[in-house]
Amino acid sequence: MKYSKIEWTEATWNPSIGCDKVSAGCKFCYAEVMAQRLQAMRTPGYKNGFEFKILPERIEAPLKINKPTKFFVNSMSDLFHERMPYAFLDRVFATIRKTPHHTYQILTKREMNLEKYFRSRIVPDNVWLGVTVEISKKKNRIDVLRNIDAKIRFLSIEPLLENIGKLDLAGIHWVIVGGESGHGARPMKPEWAIDIQRQCDKQNVSFFFKQWGAWGADGLKRNKKANGRILLGKEWNEEPKYELPKKKLVQNSMRPQAL
Ligand code: SF4
Repeated sequence: MKYSKIEWTEATWNPSIGCDKVSAGCKFCYAEVMAQRLQAMRTPGYKNGFEFKILPERIEAPLKINKPTKFFVNSMSDLFHERMPYAFLDRVFATIRKTPHHTYQILTKREMNLEKYFRSRIVPDNVWLGVTVEISKKKNRIDVLRNIDAKIRFLSIEPLLENIGKLDLAGIHWVIVGGESGHGARPMKPEWAIDIQRQCDKQNVSFFFKQWGAWGADGLKRNKKANGRILLGKEWNEEPKYELPKKKLVQNSMRPQAL
């Protein structure tokens, strides 16, 4: 089952949309391009393009889905955006708690807001918490994440923009690596990605290679599909080992989709 084109998830749930750029990886933000497209198409919710906005009407959407689904929360925003009200975040996590049959992958570039929110709250067992580390200077995000008591912690090293260097992966369960795609994409050198795979292997951490992006393994620019996702002769689709809590399923069978 797959309702999202993102290789490492099954579906998306966006209780908020829009964002502001905070780091090097944001330069060619996919969500911004998509929001502008949706605004031009007059899609409900996107009247103000990429401006941050909460969508209370989406807050309970996962409750309507019976089939256990892996959701990437906020593919179109950052759940820990400065303008996200805590009261709304509490409602997001209430939905997550009410749906233990689902898995929620939450990824942020705002590690300090993440840390602050969970200082006085417990991370639900069905949440995977992640931070983006696209350049070496942002490795401090890993230390912040490591100190949060989550069942699964992961890194999205995408777009990989330089040699990240030595990674301390203690307390990290999963690493995703990918190159940038889209107009103006910056190249990812094969040796940068290979070095991360080797470090994951050494530290016994699951590794997922998402894509080469706009620049292929041969250093040539072409269609991202044509560049594929083969690294060192194979696809890397490892996932963190995780067991869903065995609780009663919600009685409804609406088909999961982009929410
Ligand atoms: S944090 Fe994510 S959603 Fe926000 S601007 Fe950066 S890349 Fe885009």
